[in-house]
Amino acid sequence: MENCIFCKIVQGEINANFVYRDGEIVVFRDIKPKAKHHILVVPVEHVESLLDLQDKHFSLLTKMIKVIQQLVKEHKLDSAYKLMVNGGKYQEVPHLHLHLLAD
Ligand code: AMP
Ligand code: ZN
Repeated sequence: MENCIFCKIVQGEINANFVYRDGEIVVFRDIKPKAKHHILVVPVEHVESLLDLQDKHFSLLTKMIKVIQQLVKEHKLDSAYKLMVNGGKYQEVPHLHLHLLAD
């Protein structure tokens, strides 16, 4: 998607502090962290928001959750973490992403 900052990160046109990536998901640190660990879990496919997810995306969503389980375990964040999805006027970047916040 043209002019989408997260598509540009996915395509390597804009740099990011990557934590994980595979063919379907990229994970990088938020540029303005709101917690000690503020990690964004982003599908490679440009899906605008939570409300745009269709049946065909649900295996991708499951995979995003599995990646988050791994991140929490690997980075030893299990004592205090939370997940967040913004929508509507709370969503600054119109490319679906899960925020993983942790101490
Ligand atoms: P949201 O309000 O859920 O759309 O959140 C978008 C998040 O993306 C914010 O927390 C921003 O700080 C973060 N963000 C915006 N641009 C970048 C970027 N180039 N690299 C990393 N994080 C970014
Ligand atoms: Zn995008």
